[in-house]
Amino acid sequence: MSAEYLDPLTALQVLEQEGKSDGLSAAELQDNKINGGTTYNDFLILPGYIGFSASAVTLDTRVTRRISLKTPLMSSPMDTVTETDMAINMALLGGIGILHNNCSPEVQAAMVRTVKKYENGFIPEPTVLAPTNTVQDVWDIKAKFGFCGIPITENGKLNSPLLGIVTARDIQFLEDGTASLSDVMSTDLVTAKAGVTLEQANQILRSSKKGKLPIVNDEGHLVSLLARSDLLKNQSFPLASKGKGKQLLVGAAVGTREEDMKRVALLVDAGLDVVVLDSSQGNSLYQINMIHHIKKTHPNLEVIAGNVVTWEQAARLIAAGADGLRVGMGSGSICITQEVMAVGRPQATAVYQVANFASRFGVPVIADGGIQNIGHITKALAMGASAVMMGGLLAGTHESPGEYFYHEGQRLKKYRGMGSLDAMDQNKADSGSQKRYYSEGDAVKVAQGVTGAVVDKGSIRKFVPYLVTGLQHSLQDIGIESLEGFHTGVREGIVRFEKRTPAAQLEGGINGLHSYEKRLFS
Ligand code: IMP
Repeated sequence: MSAEYLDPLTALQVLEQEGKSDGLSAAELQDNKINGGTTYNDFLILPGYIGFSASAVTLDTRVTRRISLKTPLMSSPMDTVTETDMAINMALLGGIGILHNNCSPEVQAAMVRTVKKYENGFIPEPTVLAPTNTVQDVWDIKAKFGFCGIPITENGKLNSPLLGIVTARDIQFLEDGTASLSDVMSTDLVTAKAGVTLEQANQILRSSKKGKLPIVNDEGHLVSLLARSDLLKNQSFPLASKGKGKQLLVGAAVGTREEDMKRVALLVDAGLDVVVLDSSQGNSLYQINMIHHIKKTHPNLEVIAGNVVTWEQAARLIAAGADGLRVGMGSGSICITQEVMAVGRPQATAVYQVANFASRFGVPVIADGGIQNIGHITKALAMGASAVMMGGLLAGTHESPGEYFYHEGQRLKKYRGMGSLDAMDQNKADSGSQKRYYSEGDAVKVAQGVTGAVVDKGSIRKFVPYLVTGLQHSLQDIGIESLEGFHTGVREGIVRFEKRTPAAQLEGGINGLHSYEKRLFS
């Protein structure tokens, strides 16, 4: 080897002696006098050293002072994203769902109750019909949802006396759909009592050879249903987010006005774990009063306040008693706040600045809005977020509210901003969405969001594990084994960053291909 070269064995020592690291620290990246406000696509994280497998990476985190999760994922309180199905499945998969409040307090409290009483394997809200419904109604349900084992109760709803069940066999040879279900339903019922374990229920289904097992309470009222087909594919959920009594954790959004105090009381009564004070600009007298009220009246309820994007906003809410902060203003995929109001902040900078400040008080920060892929989740966490909140990324899944429809050959679901005129006009009397934007008293409603559609993403039972596995691989590339270690590594300048020029951003995307198919997971 030529004498002008250093000995390769000293490569690591040279690096250490020179005391320099490649790339930028997070503080240098977020020096906004030089770089301005940045967002996720403006930078990359430099790779580190891999000395462990991706599956060894742990993602345990805190979303409030007292609530810990195994994955840093939350679903947005939006009426096209989180109702019971989304909240149950987010919690089963290790995250948490925040129920929207664009509905009456009673309806929202019923949603909380459904999540809290969920037991793996049992269908908490089965489709139910009344004896006066017709065979045609069953055919319609079969055509739409693909099943037809339907319990029949006195009033056609859950929590009403169980009278019978209609199965495929009962209607197999019928040609006329006008017959009442009272004439065709089976009444020789095999049922189980509420409180039965999954194992016992499984045994009953097996010996009775039935496809469905209605679960009834002491009065004979239907409370849930068990399906043989579900038992066969019953998954276990090792990451599930559970609180006391092994019930799933659930959050709900509320406004910050006088009447919302009553809403909070109903939600707490239903078993709520964490409340999210839902304002687009959270630094307000209303929100501070609400935090004081909740802390005094419901001391066990965790409070996530926001939204905020600056130190000053964060400081007031932390001082008022917030247990977590939601960060983001104008970064949401359906959001036009920055365009219309001229206020907001690029999201990566907002998360970094608020998280940096809030970490001194032990208050976790949630990066809300603008998450389009796994890379964005990693970058939000790198900027100091303890979790991300997703709207658009989870919309269009089986678990999001709403029906699929077809447009130009694509299967879509509606996704709308809570500040869209569409959302603000719905359910005016109880509209949480108008209050979120302080516009319930305005003669002219100024929209801060749009209504759109997103493509079918399948079930979050596959999509969320894809996000989690991707995140583990991402941290492995960075050379970090836990989320806590990631935060420490960023703080100590061990995790390094690089700004991306517009050309670098193009380079990082797919380019130079005539055509391609982008499949994300299998
Ligand atoms: P996404 O994940 O990028 O789709 O953003 C979702 C987030 O956008 C939500 O969690 C809210 O913070 C925010 N958001 C919801 N509706 C609106 C709206 O109408 N205007 C502005 N922001 C909204």
